[in-house]
Amino acid sequence: MKAKNKSITDRFKAHLTVKGGYKGGKSIQAKKNQKTYKLSSNENPIGPSPKALEAIQQHLQQIHIYPDTTDIRLRQALEIYYKHQLHQDQFVCAASGSELLDIMLRGFVDQGDEVIVSSPYFVAYKMFAAWSGGKVVDVPLQTPNYELDVEAILHAINDRTRIIFLTSPNNPTGTYIPKATLETLLAQVPADVLVVLDEVYWHFASKEDYTKALPYLADYQNLIAVNSFSKTYGLAALRVGYAYMNKEVAHYLRQLCRPFLIGKLSLEGALAALQDADFIEQTVQLVTQERTFLQAKFKALNIEFTPSQSNFILIQPPLPSSEFVTFLREQGISVRPVDNFGAPGKVRISIGNREANKALIGAIKQLEVVL
Ligand SMILES: *Cc1c(COP(=O)(O)O)cnc(C)c1O
Repeated sequence: MKAKNKSITDRFKAHLTVKGGYKGGKSIQAKKNQKTYKLSSNENPIGPSPKALEAIQQHLQQIHIYPDTTDIRLRQALEIYYKHQLHQDQFVCAASGSELLDIMLRGFVDQGDEVIVSSPYFVAYKMFAAWSGGKVVDVPLQTPNYELDVEAILHAINDRTRIIFLTSPNNPTGTYIPKATLETLLAQVPADVLVVLDEVYWHFASKEDYTKALPYLADYQNLIAVNSFSKTYGLAALRVGYAYMNKEVAHYLRQLCRPFLIGKLSLEGALAALQDADFIEQTVQLVTQERTFLQAKFKALNIEFTPSQSNFILIQPPLPSSEFVTFLREQGISVRPVDNFGAPGKVRISIGNREANKALIGAIKQLEVVL
C-alpha cells in the first residue's frame, strides 16, 4: 500500500543536509591569451613528483586488474620512511587525508557527540562531523595571532566530547602550535578523548619549536596524526593520505577501510613520491624562499598578513574580500576567500612560483594605484 503525502525527500536525513559545505578552490576561465595562476588550493607550485609520474606510466597497462586489497605496501614503505620509529601496524592509509578524517569521525562519533575545533579551521572537520551526527563546538583561536586557547579547550570538554581537532600548521591561518602548547594540552586531555593533529603542511614549518605528533605517540594512546600526499608531494588529484597512531587505534580504524580503498595508480604514485626526496627538498626550498619574497612585498605594500609556516599566506585585503577576489580573477589569478573557514573578510593566497607571485604582486600594485 502506498503511504500518503510522503515522498522520498521526506526520508532524507536532516543531519546530512549541511549548509556551508566544502567548496574547492575555483579554477579560472582564461580569457583569450591571458595567463592564469591558480593560487587557491595550496597545490604544489612545481607540479607532481616526476618519480610518481614515471611509476604511474609504468602501471597504466594494469588498470583492468583490481588493485591491492589493502594498504599494506604503503604502510611498509612508511615504516621505512619514518626510519622504523613507527611500525607498519601504526599506519592507516586511505584515499586522501580528508577520507581519514571521515574514517575517524565514523569510528568515534555518534549522534549528539561533540568534536572541538578552533576557528578559523579546515571546513572538512565540520562537514564530516555533521555526517556522523556530531556537534561541532568551536573554541576560536585567539586573535590577533591565532594562538590555540588551551584553557578554553580544556574547559569545553565534557562527557560527550570525542575528538579535538588541531591543525599545525593551520589552514587557513598558516600559524602553528608550539611544542610547549601541545604538551600542555596533551597532558590535560582525558585519555578517552581523541586528539587529532592534522599535520598535512608539516614539511613547510621551519620554526624550532614546531613539532609533529610523532614524539608524543608513546605517551598518548589517544593521539592521531593526519598526513596527505596532496600538498607537498604534488599528488592532489590522486587522493592518497595516511595517518599514524598507536597500534590498537590503528587496528580499530582499519576495520572501517573498504577493500581496494586506494586505486592502483594512486598507490603506485604515492609509493614513488614518498621516495622522491629531491622533489620534496626542491618543493620546500621554493616555498620557503617564495614565502619570504611574498611577505616582504606585502609588508612594503602595507598589506596586513599573518606570518606563515605553510605554503599559503592569510591576508587582510585592501578592499572587501569579494571585490578583491573578483579583481584578481579578472587579472587571471584565483585566490580563496575564507569566510566559511571562520576568517571573515580575509583571503588565503597559496604560494606560487616566482612568476605567479610576481603576477600577484603586480596586480595588487595596480589596485593600490586605483584606490
Ligand atoms: C588539504 C588538507 C587536508 C587533506 O587534503 P586531501 O587532499 O584530502 O588529502 C587535510 N587537512 C587540511 C588542513 C588540509 O588543508
